[in-house]
Amino acid sequence: MTGDPELAAELAALDERRLRRVRRTICGAQGAEVIVNGRRVLCLASNNYLGLASDPRTIRAAAAVLEASGLGAAASPLVTGHMREHAVLEEAVAGWFGCEAALLFGSGYHANIAVVPALAGADDEIFSDELNHASLIDGCRLARARVTVFPHRDTAALGRALEQSRARRKLIVSDSIFSMDGDAAPLAEIVRLAERHGAWTMLDEAHAMGVCGPTGAGLAEAEGLADRITIRMGTLSKALGSYGAFVAGSRLLIDTLLNRGRAYVFSTALPPPVVAAALAAIEIVRREPARRERLWLNARRLHESLASGGMAMRPLESPILPLVIGESAVALEVASRALGQGVLAPAIRPPTVPSGTARIRLTPIATHSDEQLDRAARVLIEAVREAG
Ligand code: PMP
Repeated sequence: MTGDPELAAELAALDERRLRRVRRTICGAQGAEVIVNGRRVLCLASNNYLGLASDPRTIRAAAAVLEASGLGAAASPLVTGHMREHAVLEEAVAGWFGCEAALLFGSGYHANIAVVPALAGADDEIFSDELNHASLIDGCRLARARVTVFPHRDTAALGRALEQSRARRKLIVSDSIFSMDGDAAPLAEIVRLAERHGAWTMLDEAHAMGVCGPTGAGLAEAEGLADRITIRMGTLSKALGSYGAFVAGSRLLIDTLLNRGRAYVFSTALPPPVVAAALAAIEIVRREPARRERLWLNARRLHESLASGGMAMRPLESPILPLVIGESAVALEVASRALGQGVLAPAIRPPTVPSGTARIRLTPIATHSDEQLDRAARVLIEAVREAG
């Protein structure tokens, strides 16, 4: 192709900075262990927090709907793609979240790039935590609103920015559990500031769904703030083990998004089997708090083993445990040594994380055994020592 030499040079420059990305192919199902290059290894890097991606009940639910309703939704939801499975799941999510209504999206990325521009236009201002997920950042970029990025979890800075704003509408957007750091948003203070300044709040609960809260509905539920957040978004792809996403809020808000959310309006509805699996997963999450408790026990166990092995661990706020290394080359070396010893925990590098903070992002899941977690800790401690 005409541009190939140029592209080759750009990729080589990424290579040189150890920032080029490649994929590895997993064979078989996702779980506590996965098969990479024909080898069974411990997986410490997925978002399959409760192990539901390969739970027989979610698989059976998908298979039954596959037979009954077929594979694809065949159109966007406003044409003919909104099927009974979608309607049932939206109702279940709205009930779970204690909201008037919910709306399904093709993915979390779709949801965030749809919602932010639909709610904030030219005369408005968005206030966004600097470590928000890329999809929220892209949602802000697509909105015509002014965007004010505040330092991570800095509610004093957020308060000052809100105070100064003369915007018609103010929208605060934040991850609830930050995806690469595993820390929690200062939700009570965000809500207090929002109420004081008449701002709306949008919370991305992707990593808190199934993980936080008495029924697993997320951080807002855990902190008793659910009814004070304007809009909550959650994914079906992480703890729920399926694919897709939803937002939950008032009926008027959902009707607005259904009309104005471009990534909703112009994209095919989720495949019905995927929707059915998510519904089965929500039932499991609500009925089996023991899974969530086991997830937290596992996270604590791994966190303690790593800390007592001399790793600099941040306080545990979620099952996402970042092992911050610094240089990309060193993080890659740690990941490669760990994989050599049977532990899959890839390096996360810029631009996914700020420059100089390349890391191994560890995510124990509910189905890891104590022995697996202890082995993973030993392997990682050794890999960090040898690579450092
Ligand atoms: N928000 C957060 C916080 C995420 O971590 C992710 C995915 N990693 C998304 C949104 C996007 O969700 P999806 O993978 O369903 O597109």
